[in-house]
Amino acid sequence: MDQIHIFPDGKEVQLLDASEAAERIMVDAAGSFFDLLTQTDISVRMGVESADGAKGVDKPGLERFKAFVRRSVRDWTARERQAMPEVLRLVHDQCGEAYASLIPQKWRFIKTSGAEEFGYFYTRGDSIVIPEPAFNHRLAGGDMANLAALMLHETFHVYSRLNPDKKALLYQRIGFSRLEPLNLGGFLTGRRMTNPDGADCSYAIKVENNRGEDAWITPVVFWDGKLNSGFFELEFRDGWWRVVGGDGFPRPVNLETVKGFYEQVGRNTDYLIHPDEILAENVVLLVNARFRNHDLAGKAPDEHSLRVLHDIERILLQQ
Ligand SMILES: [Zn+2]
Repeated sequence: MDQIHIFPDGKEVQLLDASEAAERIMVDAAGSFFDLLTQTDISVRMGVESADGAKGVDKPGLERFKAFVRRSVRDWTARERQAMPEVLRLVHDQCGEAYASLIPQKWRFIKTSGAEEFGYFYTRGDSIVIPEPAFNHRLAGGDMANLAALMLHETFHVYSRLNPDKKALLYQRIGFSRLEPLNLGGFLTGRRMTNPDGADCSYAIKVENNRGEDAWITPVVFWDGKLNSGFFELEFRDGWWRVVGGDGFPRPVNLETVKGFYEQVGRNTDYLIHPDEILAENVVLLVNARFRNHDLAGKAPDEHSLRVLHDIERILLQQ
């Protein structure tokens, strides 16, 4: 049975127990996380990767990985059952009436050991996944504001998934479009890592490269013995968008030397690995500033960043 907490506006907090969580953590849209996983995604998460891709190492398939994910779910302790509504009340208060729509009618939470996803907080379908060690570490530190910010960040990922029209407007506002079909090339294709909160890696943004030409660049998270990431330039060739130099060792773009990147994205966050992450961080900043009656101008480092916050606000608030 779930523990349910209901806010006066009817929003329900559901803390799923382990048996329900084991099912929900598998519920994913077609073409999303589980469909996009690479062998590297699976092997690294299950702790059986080899840095050089040597033959003979164990290569667990998708079904074994899914079983591994299912085994990671946990029941909530009494302390967590008490703490979760406290943290979520903070988030609910911060959102207030203006940003109430960010919170889903059923605000669902799954608890795991964290083993399945590097110990990170993340989302799956309409549920937010809480890794036991990281949650309890922050709880022990009394870091409620930080926990609330994390919950709001994850809540935005669910909002974005459940509201494709808003998502499209928000992505467009910070310059990101989908480019299809996309081919990352030999080096990155095998090493690509899938972010559960931004599983679709076909988004790119147009900038002016160092040669003064228009160029699309795409963010890629990849494994080279550790989690790494960068933006890579694309070219359209033979019907595909391809990473420039993708068959050798492609070099990431220096975002400080291309033109037009920060003008579109702003500098409100340096967590740039996916448009959904950029937006989630901006939304946390925006909602917190408005809750404290702060003028947004004091929160943004420059005029582009300020305009990003204002435009995100306008998109979120319009009916
Ligand atoms: Zn995120």
